[in-house]
Amino acid sequence: MNCCICNKVINPGEQYIIDVHGNRAHAHHCIEVCPVCERMIGEVSSYGKIVYPDGRYICGNCYMNNNPVIDKKLLEQAFFNAKHLLQEKGYNFPKITIHLASKDEFIQLGCHNETLGLTTSRISIGKETHQIQILYGLPILLSTGIIAHELLHSWLNRNGLRPEPVICEGLCELGAALVYKRVNTPFGKFLFRKLERNMLFIYSEGFKMMKNILETDGWEATREYVKNNSKNHNRILFAK
Ligand SMILES: [Zn+2]
Ligand SMILES: [Zn+2]
Ligand SMILES: [Zn+2]
Repeated sequence: MNCCICNKVINPGEQYIIDVHGNRAHAHHCIEVCPVCERMIGEVSSYGKIVYPDGRYICGNCYMNNNPVIDKKLLEQAFFNAKHLLQEKGYNFPKITIHLASKDEFIQLGCHNETLGLTTSRISIGKETHQIQILYGLPILLSTGIIAHELLHSWLNRNGLRPEPVICEGLCELGAALVYKRVNTPFGKFLFRKLERNMLFIYSEGFKMMKNILETDGWEATREYVKNNSKNHNRILFAK
């Protein structure tokens, strides 16, 4: 058994760490993990890492094998696929513009550190504009999932729906899940399971809750559930 960082043997009795992909490393190393695929960063385990200009990094494996979205062409492809999958499920979208953003740009906009995407909608009588921004350099499958999540935020916005945060994020995660499930690859399965493990309660719990509704009653009933929750939630907000 060899260490994926120094490539030396891990002797019996020596402490080691193991990642979700089965890579092992001596416990004494300073270990970095790919924020996307959770591989330990090492020459053997991940072909090293790539550092982006805004200081983020992804592992060499994600960079070489998972098509990071770094240009307009791949972004448009991800956007097209996300939109198409949701349209199949009965969602309609107005004209939406899409852009890549850096971590610094998100922070300047007041987003938290973990932000992957952002939807801005401006709606007035007879006019609506929607803009989606996603973090650049993430694998195209993950980017497509993030866009599907943001598209559902835009759907909520244009329909004037403001459900409880857990329902809101839970619904949007269903969009991401739809993308990851459709490809039926190990990476897709990995990203799907990651939705259930999200450290932020409103995302993971919301996702599990909305997934149950979707699996038992389908998309139309899921939309009705969100609309009713929004009505009741707004009633409570106004009563306060
Ligand atoms: Zn080692
Ligand atoms: Zn990776
Ligand atoms: Zn969201």
